[in-house]
Amino acid sequence: MKQLVHRELRRLLLLLVLGALAGWVLGYPLVGALLGSLYFSLIHIRQLWRLHNWLQKPQAEPPETKGLWGEIFDAIYHYQRQQLKSQFRLKQTLDRIQESSQALKDGVVMIDSKGDLEWWNKAAEDLIGLRSPSDRGHPITHLLREPRFVEYFDKQRYTEPLIIPSPIAEGRTLEYQVTLFGENERLMLIRDFTRMQRLERMRQDFIANVSHELRTPLTVLSGFLETFSDHADQLPQKWLRGLTLMRQQSARMEHLVEDLLTLSRLETSDFEPEVEPIAVQELLKSIRNDALALSGNKHQILLEADDHLKVYGSEKELRSAFSNLVFNAVKYTPASTEIRLRWYHDHTGAHLDVVDQGVGIDPQHLPRLTERFYRVDQGRSSNTGGTGLGLAIVKHVMLRHRGRLGIASQLGEGSCFTCHFPLSRINISTDQ
Ligand code: ADP
Repeated sequence: MKQLVHRELRRLLLLLVLGALAGWVLGYPLVGALLGSLYFSLIHIRQLWRLHNWLQKPQAEPPETKGLWGEIFDAIYHYQRQQLKSQFRLKQTLDRIQESSQALKDGVVMIDSKGDLEWWNKAAEDLIGLRSPSDRGHPITHLLREPRFVEYFDKQRYTEPLIIPSPIAEGRTLEYQVTLFGENERLMLIRDFTRMQRLERMRQDFIANVSHELRTPLTVLSGFLETFSDHADQLPQKWLRGLTLMRQQSARMEHLVEDLLTLSRLETSDFEPEVEPIAVQELLKSIRNDALALSGNKHQILLEADDHLKVYGSEKELRSAFSNLVFNAVKYTPASTEIRLRWYHDHTGAHLDVVDQGVGIDPQHLPRLTERFYRVDQGRSSNTGGTGLGLAIVKHVMLRHRGRLGIASQLGEGSCFTCHFPLSRINISTDQ
């Protein structure tokens, strides 16, 4: 290339010299040199014109020419070919991705950063009734207006999927899972959840029925065991230990059945918050008394509660959740240590801290702690008579109150369980 530029410069020099010589012969050397350079410029302007014309027709072959311009045409032509090839490859890949997405049974919807529909597959049309191409460019929340969907979509916290009834087919349930990518763009997967939900309902019904059926025989058994215990002095001595064990275990089974029934009620019933906000301070006072009775007054339970701070919810469910946390603090804490209950609010909402100085929990167990029957230490829990369902109940109650359970713990130092309630659920009265 450098050589070709040099050649052009030599050509310009030659034209200047020849022009000047011819001009000198005629008595005007400067005009001759000027005409020489004009001729040089015309040659290049012509090539520029050819380049312009050729670029208007990108598919055409480059104009035939040699030298510097020939090289330039070839380089552009080569570059164009490469671009076309990579464009073709890109298009093929895109087509294949779209083809495979079209073949998916699950709905796939691409949504731009403004929340408008960009692209979707055929399954999305069948599942949520999108119409192509008329819905393109419309906000997704104008087409899926269900308030739970709008809240889920706008919140931009997509850790959990959303499961709600289908907008177009009665009796069907859909699962929406949104993923953020690029610059606030969103990819939404939609799955028909009807079968899974039916199985889940069957599981819930099965547990509820079994628990219900076990309740009556258990009541009969523990009733008789209690009667036998009342007449223990008339029974042979060797039966007494067995009788004590049977009473303990039947009480444990009754507790388990009660917890299972509570959980299944939480899972299957509709949530109906009480009209009047609940005085949490009063509730905590009564739970504190029960916890002191459970501990045999061996623990110190301190209560610090904002008496103006109330919460909209179900008193029965909140009592069950808070009791589970406070009773756990008693169960997993050595006697004569301190348990602190603190009910307060800040700019994010209201919070109940249950802090103990007990055995603590290894951080590796924390993510699974609210699973049913999950126990950190099997031996320890059976000693304390636990069912392994307490924290699962707390988690469900908090979800129903649109709140969440937070757990922080240090092995050997103690734990802090916190029930967080959103601002929308609380009531701060200003009256004295
Ligand atoms: P359980 O009926 O066994 O107490 P939970 O669901 O209430 O069941 O608790 C699950 C597990 O979490 C317990 O088995 C226990 O190991 C651990 N745990 C709960 N609360 C505490 C606490 N305050 N301190 C230490 N460990 C706890």
